[in-house]
Amino acid sequence: MLDVVVIGGGMSGLTAAIHLAGAGLKTAIISRGDPVCCLSTGCIDVLDLGGRPMDGYGALPEGHPYRLVGKRGIEDGLRMLKDIMASSPIPYTGTIRANREILTPIGTFKTTCLVPRTMEASQGCRDEYLHVISFAGLKDFYPSYITSRLPDTGFSLFDAGCSSTLALAARFEEQGFLDEFCSWLSSIEIPPGRVAIPAVLGLKNPVAVMEEISSRIGRTLFEIPTLPPSLPGMRLFRTLKTAFQERGGEVYWGNPISSVEIRGATVEAVTLAASGRPTRVQGRAFILATGSFVSGGLYATRESVREPVFNLAVRVPGARKDWFLHDFFMPGHPIEGAGIEVDASFRPAGSSLENLFVCGSILANSEIMKNRCGHGMALATGLKAARQCERMLV
Ligand SMILES: Cc1cc2nc3c(=O)[nH]c(=O)nc-3n(C[C@H](O)[C@H](O)[C@H](O)COP(=O)(O)OP(=O)(O)OC[C@H]3O[C@@H](n4cnc5c(N)ncnc54)[C@H](O)[C@@H]3O)c2cc1C
Repeated sequence: MLDVVVIGGGMSGLTAAIHLAGAGLKTAIISRGDPVCCLSTGCIDVLDLGGRPMDGYGALPEGHPYRLVGKRGIEDGLRMLKDIMASSPIPYTGTIRANREILTPIGTFKTTCLVPRTMEASQGCRDEYLHVISFAGLKDFYPSYITSRLPDTGFSLFDAGCSSTLALAARFEEQGFLDEFCSWLSSIEIPPGRVAIPAVLGLKNPVAVMEEISSRIGRTLFEIPTLPPSLPGMRLFRTLKTAFQERGGEVYWGNPISSVEIRGATVEAVTLAASGRPTRVQGRAFILATGSFVSGGLYATRESVREPVFNLAVRVPGARKDWFLHDFFMPGHPIEGAGIEVDASFRPAGSSLENLFVCGSILANSEIMKNRCGHGMALATGLKAARQCERMLV
């Protein structure tokens, strides 16, 4: 039997699972599919209510998951991520003491906290000339969006013979292509300043690719995150999944939970829907990290909002008519506060289940878009739930 079964393979589930497997507990992740992280910029937003990340902490309502974790717990989550990434080919830069701004593909600046090394030089790029490199026919990245917003910028196009970010990433992993690209880049006249490129510098080792180009052209280079699918998000997800497997973790990927077995106050097993024989997975403890509406961790019907795996009670703010504002992605949309409320030990509030913990964007009151705390909150609550679970088991 497993010690812990983590349901959901996003940032929060992976963080919890890595901690538990690292502590020597027999841990598995069950995930229906790849997480929202693969759509994200790969940058870690912690909190952006003005100024430094923790400046906004006091303004959060009492029920916000960060308030249950505490400032030190938030810092621990970030440190854990930085340590894992530091031993991967994609180290992360930044600290909880400062937010930073990175250039977006539409020429605006996004506030975030930790960034992959390939985006480090994005900070401060508006203070000097910026030359954007793009690729003939590349979909979803238009350098003119940037040059039309930022005055001191220019761009050049390279014909790589492919039009998707994933195909370009594969090309940047070939030395022959890299040599050809560097020769072309060295041959064009670029005014003094920085060079930016959409995030296509390979999936496996983008920092090494960036450093090679940078040294060959003698310029500071950085990546601009692109629209989904986002390579920096995919790199982050793959690195964490590998880190879990390297610690001996098991993964069941691609199927949702079809049923759960509960005896008294204990969850005993879950069964995965599968095209062949259903798989039953038993554990001593369970962590629910199935995400919010985007991943199906929460499901809205005309009458209510449901949590489909354990049928836990969902807190829904305001009246039902308030959930139907037309712009779902509007920061401060009331439905952003919906989710599972937990007690101080990250067990679902009001539930009698003693071996079930909850973390990540499924938690109530998080208001991720309003507070800009997406991955930061997933890391902090994933680690906190894992520690509580470990305390119960060990
Ligand atoms: C488009 C977009 C861009 C974003 N960009 C950023 C960003 O740049 N920086 C940032 O900090 N935050 C960003 N966020 C927010 C951030 O990505 C999320 O808040 C965070 O990653 C959520 O992690 P999670 O682990 O809670 O859930 P998720 O990533 O949603 O993961 C949940 C997982 O559970 C699985 N699952 C669901 N139901 C079941 C089931 N029944 N059985 C088994 N598995 C199941 C899903 O397949 C999924 O893999 C972005 C969000 C979106 C939507």
